[in-house]
Amino acid sequence: MLPSLLLLAAAPLAAAHTGCGGHEIARRNPGGPVIHRRQVDNTNVDPVAECAPYTYAPVNTIKAQFPAIWQAATLVQGDSEAAALFATINATVNQRLPNDLPRGTANGNMAGVNYDNADPDCWWTWKQCTTPAASTGILPDITTMPEPETWGFGFDDGPNCSHNALYNFLAENNQKATMFFIGSNVMDWPVQAIRAKDDGHQICVHTWSHQYMTSFSNEQAFAELYYTRKAIKDVIGVTPKCWRPPFGDTDNRIRLIASLLNMTTVVWSDDTDDWKVGIGNVTAQDVDNNYLKVINAQKAGAYATHGPVVLNHEINNYTMGELIKQYPAIKAAFKYIVPIATGLNISNPYEETNITFPTFAQYTGVGNTTTSSSASAGASASGSASAVSGSASASSSSSAVAKKNASGALAVSSVSAASLFLGLTAALLL
Ligand SMILES: [Zn+2]
Repeated sequence: MLPSLLLLAAAPLAAAHTGCGGHEIARRNPGGPVIHRRQVDNTNVDPVAECAPYTYAPVNTIKAQFPAIWQAATLVQGDSEAAALFATINATVNQRLPNDLPRGTANGNMAGVNYDNADPDCWWTWKQCTTPAASTGILPDITTMPEPETWGFGFDDGPNCSHNALYNFLAENNQKATMFFIGSNVMDWPVQAIRAKDDGHQICVHTWSHQYMTSFSNEQAFAELYYTRKAIKDVIGVTPKCWRPPFGDTDNRIRLIASLLNMTTVVWSDDTDDWKVGIGNVTAQDVDNNYLKVINAQKAGAYATHGPVVLNHEINNYTMGELIKQYPAIKAAFKYIVPIATGLNISNPYEETNITFPTFAQYTGVGNTTTSSSASAGASASGSASAVSGSASASSSSSAVAKKNASGALAVSSVSAASLFLGLTAALLL
């Protein structure tokens, strides 16, 4: 029998940390030229050139308003606005969850942590809990898409300085995604961050320093979310209403702090483990198999009533190239590949209500009978295919046409995918 209080051992718990590794993230080497506005060529897909140091003048102007990058965030001295908001949130958290306290260390060492086996705080890292008890009044995490046969699409840990090949590929396929950005990365690579919005991707918060959120005090957890959100607002111009915990590590206390900042917690249903290649015994073949597992589940009918939210990363050239490699198979198997907001039918993913996203129906073209004959619009072709296959009343023959159209569109995109992937592979070998 297990005692009600378990002593967590570091080793078995580490196996549950199926998130992403912050230590892998390329960090800026300051000292390059100062640029005052966008001066980076998006067509440049040479990772070395993309990651050349630069200093972005607008970030220099505001950086004193933020915590030190890549350090656990705390309230910035003199930031009365943040302090006042934190005071309100802290009082609520202490009143509603007085027994949900920090545990473990910021780098995920849980040795010596005592935790009730009944999982009172719905701690993801303990047993992957995503549904707080109803009595808490805290909403469940987003783990799946409510739409059938729909892949919830997003990338963690960006912006990566060398993401142009991936972002170009997504643009060529008219494919939007949800980008879970790390605040320190936004400050490090602001021009790359801005591109995500320019390209129409949804942007969510992935904390300031990418560490274990449940290890943090209320103030630190608040600051990790608050200053990342502020960085995204100040650099990119939007205020996200969603976040994803690094390593999945959240609990009711952290969820409540996020919700009081009007941010929904998004985790995932399936993990590609792409970030783990080269760490431990995880191989590229394992990652291929993880993608294949989700694709085969779809082919077997597992997603007749909902869709997966799949975890993959913008963390390095391998993970980005892997997605490019897998994309045609995903596209062929699933009816739709959508950003998280779109899958949830959220038209206003930001606090700025003048920025709207398409609904699921608008994005997928359901009900849209317009067809495209543009030779350059592979993505448009797949969009019209979706329109046909997505129709509830579509006949079997029109579905077949849709598949054919989708294949045709993929044939166009797979050429560039192959060349881009080869480019990335070559870069990795350098
Ligand atoms: Zn991450």
